[in-house]
Amino acid sequence: MIRATPGLFAAVLLSLFAAGPATGQPMPKRQIVAVADGVYAATGYASNNMGFIVTDEGVVVIDTGMKPEIGREFLADIRKETGKPVRYVIFTHYHYDHVDGAVAFQAPGVQFIAHENLPRNLKTLKGLERVNQTVLGSASEAPTVYPDITYRDSTTLTVGGREIRLYHAMGETDDATLVWLPKERVIFIGDLNNANLGSPVMPEGYPEGFIAAVDLIEGLAPKTLVPGHGRIEETTVASLKAMSTVTAWLMAQVRQSVGEGLDLEATMAAITMPAEFRKDPALAAMFEACREPYVNRLFKNYTGYYGSNPVHFRPAPAKERGALLAELAGGNAALLARARQLAAEGRYQLALELLDIVTTNEPGNREAHAAKEQAFSALARTGKDLNWYHRAAYFNAARKERQLAGDAGKTASR
Ligand SMILES: [Zn+2]
Repeated sequence: MIRATPGLFAAVLLSLFAAGPATGQPMPKRQIVAVADGVYAATGYASNNMGFIVTDEGVVVIDTGMKPEIGREFLADIRKETGKPVRYVIFTHYHYDHVDGAVAFQAPGVQFIAHENLPRNLKTLKGLERVNQTVLGSASEAPTVYPDITYRDSTTLTVGGREIRLYHAMGETDDATLVWLPKERVIFIGDLNNANLGSPVMPEGYPEGFIAAVDLIEGLAPKTLVPGHGRIEETTVASLKAMSTVTAWLMAQVRQSVGEGLDLEATMAAITMPAEFRKDPALAAMFEACREPYVNRLFKNYTGYYGSNPVHFRPAPAKERGALLAELAGGNAALLARARQLAAEGRYQLALELLDIVTTNEPGNREAHAAKEQAFSALARTGKDLNWYHRAAYFNAARKERQLAGDAGKTASR
């Protein structure tokens, strides 16, 4: 069996990031782009974009990248543009890929600024890193840098005669900051335009807040928008409006389905692209990107943690169900054989559902874990309509099953 080395793993994960989490567009190349006089977008730092503003009194930095090395590389690139000291670092939100480079900027005289919800979110994340690993593969080891200055609704920073306005926004997270330069008409929007409405493995995603934030941005009439991921030229007021239109439409549809008592599967099936979106390529593309994650998120927002099927209110213990199904199927070996057959037919999801019963019944079943690894890998490679999160989750699930298959083998040969 070929074992992925940590280096290979990092390379594969980075390639997963290559299509930005925000809207899935290709990753821009690493470069510093002047978007206005003294205002720079720094694109392509792994999957992230950052920014900085050079004033007579020093530099204001926007976001820091996904790890300390990237923060250091970003700072070195800022140094090539200006010798002025960094005065402030603004976090657009608390996600690791924006804050984990912060340690590189810690120095006397540097102050970190964020929305007041950000410290709470960083603390909450500390306990949830294992959940996050489902997608990210490994928990971040970067030291946490908490903000020195926080604000509630909005605040204005005047540095070296430049006016920088910070607005609180909610979209992907509840601690988003929009960084607006009124004179230059440039706005840094962080990950507001996340086509997943928040990470599927995190408690977040604020559709109403997102729509309000897009209205705010439209009202400001920016000339240039700098997103936290993806190409600058592809993020416009029009693209945000398209996402906001799709969001409002999906909210209404999901509410209606839930009101009619449909379950998630029936809701998903009932929601197809309306004719008015089909006519407009921007709306059609946004609908394709947002439909599945938004419907999942919204359905759970509207139905609560029980979902809508009373059979699932208090499910029977998995081991009891698993034992019963194995008995009916003729044993775990029969389930495993059928799962392999399904995988050979390319029906990986069904195969995984059977294999999950086998590994619930027999956690040390090495063959079942190996079959799961293959099915997850196949889904990561060949699954239809996958977004960045699906791919990363399948890739990491395959990696975990590979470990379990090895561990189970070691136990068995003892
Ligand atoms: Zn991000």
